[in-house]
Amino acid sequence: MSEPQAPAAFSLDPGPDLTQMRDWVHGFAADVIRPAAAEWDEREQTPWPVLEEAAKIGLYSLDFFGGQWLDESGLGIPIAFEELFWGDAGIGLSLAGSSLAAVAVASNGTQEQIGEWLPQMFGTPGDVKLAAFCASEPDAGSDVGAIRTRATYLEASDEWVLNGAKTWATNGGIADVHVVVATVEPSLGSRGQASFIVPPGTPGLSQGQKFRKHGIRASHTAEVVLSDVKVPGRCLVGGRERLQARLERVRAGGRAGEQAAMRTFEASRPSVGAMAVGVARAAFEYARDYARERQQFGRPIGQNQAIAFMLADMSAAVDAARLLVWRAAWMVRNGQSLDAAQGSVSKLVAGETAVRVTEQAIQILGGNGYTRDYPVERWHRDAKIFTIFEGTSEIQRMIIGRAVTGLDVR
Ligand SMILES: Cc1cc2nc3c(=O)[nH]c(=O)nc-3n(C[C@H](O)[C@H](O)[C@H](O)COP(=O)(O)OP(=O)(O)OC[C@H]3O[C@@H](n4cnc5c(N)ncnc54)[C@H](O)[C@@H]3O)c2cc1C
Repeated sequence: MSEPQAPAAFSLDPGPDLTQMRDWVHGFAADVIRPAAAEWDEREQTPWPVLEEAAKIGLYSLDFFGGQWLDESGLGIPIAFEELFWGDAGIGLSLAGSSLAAVAVASNGTQEQIGEWLPQMFGTPGDVKLAAFCASEPDAGSDVGAIRTRATYLEASDEWVLNGAKTWATNGGIADVHVVVATVEPSLGSRGQASFIVPPGTPGLSQGQKFRKHGIRASHTAEVVLSDVKVPGRCLVGGRERLQARLERVRAGGRAGEQAAMRTFEASRPSVGAMAVGVARAAFEYARDYARERQQFGRPIGQNQAIAFMLADMSAAVDAARLLVWRAAWMVRNGQSLDAAQGSVSKLVAGETAVRVTEQAIQILGGNGYTRDYPVERWHRDAKIFTIFEGTSEIQRMIIGRAVTGLDVR
């Protein structure tokens, strides 16, 4: 028998630095985000004062989010996002949205691009900036290969011209920096696409309709129209040489581009799963506390097995979702290949857990749960987004289905 390989270190103890960070973010979520949540949900606007306050203490900053993305355990972002979204998902997404756009540049961009554009995505205390990642289009949601926004290169001026219409962009139109996915060679589908940085104030980029949503209403979601938007050559994420080399490989029959994109998506999914865990945990804790206090038939409702068992299921589900998120995040950061679609598994389970647990929380609060005087109805509305964005539950199942069967599941 061959010697078993030494297992790579994996620990469920976040250690003192991450624990301290978690407590710090939790403090901000409890003291600033949660008290403001109902108001910004009603206003359906970006909570600029909360962003400013977070920037003032260094929480809304490239330093903070960059540091967490780079934490060697992979758990920095899952822990930070869980706490922020425990505070409120709409405000949480306003705080986290720029970092999702930043990751698109950080994971595929050159060092120069990272140095030039990431600071502009966050701004400074007193001058907060936002970033938006614009991939989805009216006819290209789950089917990202159908993106029609076209990028054309002008050799003479070393510029790219972008034309098209994006939809569902978080921070779209109000961001300073937009990262736009466009096709450079439509016949190659998703493998003929590239990302472009649109600098602040570039003519031709405008906001279309702003959506009035079911949940996460403090997060701005809008269409973005690109009409002859000219960006300098250096705004092609990753640079022209790399794009040309990739296109050559694809034209020669390779699948490199598609696989790279799949790896990037798979790697970002645990962070979205962590957001869902935060919402689910908030609902579980609130329902648990309520069930201890609320008396019917002369005793706390939590003494009924019907309620206690529901709380047991909720607690177990939140724990299970967090463990899947942590596993996938640790694997991504430690260079493990996610062959069993562990990123999709974490996002699927966490998203569906959030929907179920928030619904159970409403049930435990009874009539109160159904009113806006209590936060659980808002959390239920918020939770639903996690089965839709960053790949719907059906798309996650398709990816997992392919991984577990080895078949071309469609
Ligand atoms: C609030 C919000 C914020 C968002 N933020 C961003 C953002 O910042 N940037 C960005 O680029 N996008 C963003 N999105 C877009 C989001 O990623 C898409 O909405 C999502 O990918 C689904 O696409 P769609 O809405 O076009 O639905 P569709 O793709 O039309 O899907 C409709 C239904 O059909 C199902 N379906 C589709 N194809 C299949 C299939 N092959 N097999 C089985 N079922 C299938 C879906 O699962 C879904 O149930 C955001 C969306 C929302 C609502």
